[in-house]
Parts: sequence; C-alpha cells; structure tokens
Amino acid sequence: MKKVIKFLIIVAIIIWISVIIINKNDDIVVCIDAGHGGTDAGAINNNRYEKDDTLKIAKLIEEYLNNEGIKTVMTRTNDTYVSLRERCKIANKKRADLFISIHRNSAEQGNGVEIWTNSKKKQDDLELSNMILENLQSVGIQTNRGVKIGSIEGENTDYYVLNNTNMTSCLIELGFITDNVDNKLFDENIENYAKAIAEGIIEQIIEQ
Ligand SMILES: [Zn+2]
Repeated sequence: MKKVIKFLIIVAIIIWISVIIINKNDDIVVCIDAGHGGTDAGAINNNRYEKDDTLKIAKLIEEYLNNEGIKTVMTRTNDTYVSLRERCKIANKKRADLFISIHRNSAEQGNGVEIWTNSKKKQDDLELSNMILENLQSVGIQTNRGVKIGSIEGENTDYYVLNNTNMTSCLIELGFITDNVDNKLFDENIENYAKAIAEGIIEQIIEQ
C-alpha cells in the first residue's frame, strides 16, 4: 500500500511539472527591435538620432505589453550596436511569436507613417500591420503612407530582419526624422504611439 501511495505521489508530481512546462511554452513572446544603435545612429537630423527615438519608444511598448501580462524580448536595451543577423537570432532563439522592428524614416521631402511587411509571409503580417497603422492613425499622424510589401528597393526585395525571422513580423517607420512636424508629433504622442502599437500587437495575438 505504501508503495502505491509513493507511486501516485510521484505520478502527481510529474503531471504537475509537465503542466507548468506546457503552460510556460504557451506564453506569448513579443520581440521588440529598436532599430540601429551604438555606432549605427540610423537617420540623423541635427542632434537627433534615429537610434535614440527607436529605443525610447521600444521601451515604452515593452512596458505596456508587460503590464498587460505579455512577455517581451528586446534586441537591445541600451545604446549598443547589434547586427541585423544577431537581432534575428535573438527573436528566433526565444521562439518569439511576433517581431516588431521600430524605425524612423528620412528623406529630403516626405512625412508620415508607413509599415513594411515581408513579401513572403503575407496574411498575418498584413493583419498585424493594418491594426497597428489604424491605431496610430487614431492617435494622430501627419500622413498615412499605408502598409507596404517588400522594401523601399521594390516589392520583391525584403528587409533583412523581416526575411530572417521565423514569426509574424513588421517594420514600422514611425514618421520622418527629417520632418519637423513628424518629430513634434512623435515627441508629443510617444506614449500614445507606444500604446497604439502595443494594442495592435495584442489584437493580433488574440486573432492568431
Ligand atoms: Zn532605420
């Protein structure tokens, strides 16, 4: 009889541990990729660097998601250089469910927000991008430049981080650092932009 009880206790413990492990694997993980960093400043407008803007908002998105109980992994948390290859490795290794790359645009002329999706991944990426862009539009952006497929080089060329991550992903160009109105909107709305992006992520998680 004692042996039976001992056996049952061991079985119960094994089941209990298995449940914990399974639940752990079920956790949604979102990888937030703050574009550029360290020696790679990204786009520059006087003293303003893209790498600083992307890190600032990436941290706010992380905070919002964590408060909603969603796990996050950051490709960088400070002003350091991380290669594109390493960024993808971080997301893939952690088996992230979503990968969100944050950038700011630059051009002699042009303003507004656009979101890029990979030409090969398609549906989930488009849904995620559309939801985020709609939310950003609600907060207030100068121009809605739309959800775009491929890269600035063309529809069949993809951004490295979107091409080399295994999960649903998108790359957000959060206004032009070269446009003063976009910068003003970015500074005034940074918390609401972060919330808009995080809520788009959450909507996509629910749908997936
Ligand atoms: Zn960039």
